Amino acid sequence: MSPEELNPFVIAQQQCDRAARYLPGLEPGLFEFLKRPDRLVTVEFPIATTSGEVRNFVGYRCLHSRVRGPGKGGIRYHPDVTPDEVRALASWMTWKCSVVDIPFGGAKGGVVCDPKELSDQDLLHITRRYIVELNDSIGPHTDIPAPDVNTNARIMAIVYDTYDAMHPGRNNLGVVTGKPVHVGGSLGRNEATSRGGLVVAQRALERGVLEGSETLEGLTVAIQGFGNVGGIAATLFHEAGARLVALSDSRGGVLSAGGIDPAAAHAHKLETGSLQGMPGCSDCTNDDVLEAECDILIPAALENQLRGDNADRVRARMILELANGPTTPEADRSFQERGIPVVPDILANAGGVTVSYFEWVQNNKNEQWDEEEVNSRLERVMRRAADGVLDKQARINGSLDELDAERTRLGRDVGPLEPVDLRTAAFVVAVDRVAQVSLDRGIWP
Ligand code: NAD
Repeated sequence: MSPEELNPFVIAQQQCDRAARYLPGLEPGLFEFLKRPDRLVTVEFPIATTSGEVRNFVGYRCLHSRVRGPGKGGIRYHPDVTPDEVRALASWMTWKCSVVDIPFGGAKGGVVCDPKELSDQDLLHITRRYIVELNDSIGPHTDIPAPDVNTNARIMAIVYDTYDAMHPGRNNLGVVTGKPVHVGGSLGRNEATSRGGLVVAQRALERGVLEGSETLEGLTVAIQGFGNVGGIAATLFHEAGARLVALSDSRGGVLSAGGIDPAAAHAHKLETGSLQGMPGCSDCTNDDVLEAECDILIPAALENQLRGDNADRVRARMILELANGPTTPEADRSFQERGIPVVPDILANAGGVTVSYFEWVQNNKNEQWDEEEVNSRLERVMRRAADGVLDKQARINGSLDELDAERTRLGRDVGPLEPVDLRTAAFVVAVDRVAQVSLDRGIWP
């Protein structure tokens, strides 16, 4: 058997291809245009690091689509950043913004570096030089960055400051989101990705996605990744009545069938730099966390964590993707066969970009909304998006014969249509919306 395809951009394209089978009216040429990124900018620059060396760093910024609005997407600092990873993440942003119906397209950026071996000062220098080199590839109405893996509000403040110095005399706050609140950030943005995931999980349970469990009360949860998204999800799911039975970060994991107190986990990580060694828990590997017996598994770290080679060992009853791209198509197939619903990234983690949109609106209007307003607007958007995807799944699966007949009539590819999982339903919603706007705007043909 050939090894599983793990290139995230190939995977992102395969996910689109699958969705296109359920959109028989979608012109093949339009679909090809929608799948491809508009552009990829590569920059390279030297930094004098605090350790005394001068090193060159490579950074990328991909704009996938601006059909529905300015490009939007985070900046990642990680040694594994590649052009195809950035392309994949940018395209997922296009589909994500479309699923929650906010007026943004998709983009993503990254710098190849290992923050663990760089000082905070080095990261600030890298940020300044990266933004200077990107120049007008980003802008408040063209392409708007945000935080992602290993970047945070402090780094977003530097992005803003650098761009603002290059474009004096106008309100540039909207060039980046996820800023500190006192530098034009939005209340609630830090928690937004995890809070949005919580709302989606609660709505999915209410709608019967997990048989016999209509609320989170008493459900067991395992979380991979304990950074911005996973760490805050731990707190919010615990507050909502779930029991945390497994947690991990890049240094390893911990298990406790009796439940892990997230406040104690945060304190332990702050003190020791790791989750391992927590009193009352047993240390374990990252794989043990992915394979822990639990009701809901939340991958909140990186891509390709659930693959063909480990999916059958996953014992969760449901998966909520707060990371981008954690599940490969082979793993998706395995979960679908076993009746394990996967709430896909482009829906489950869209709370972050939704509050980023609110931040951008506040910046453009010079307003500061209070946290209750941000959270209640977020909840409305996320519930509506979850309902949209669940309704689409039901509608497609209830009309497979009609869709098949339509495909045959239009001479599209042949072969039986299987029932769709939530990912494919979400892609159908997303691709259909972007296609419609491309046609209405006359971008295609
Ligand atoms: P982060 O840098 O704050 O945290 C990443 C966490 O993952 C860290 O705890 C790290 O130790 C852990 N990790 C790394 N490799 C691991 C491994 N092999 N096993 C277990 N843990 C590992 O990043 P973040 O902002 O929390 O982002 C996490 C994921 O969520 C990414 O996929 C990101 O694209 C996605 N996401 C983030 C946001 C956002 O607003 N920050 C929004 C949507 C999606």
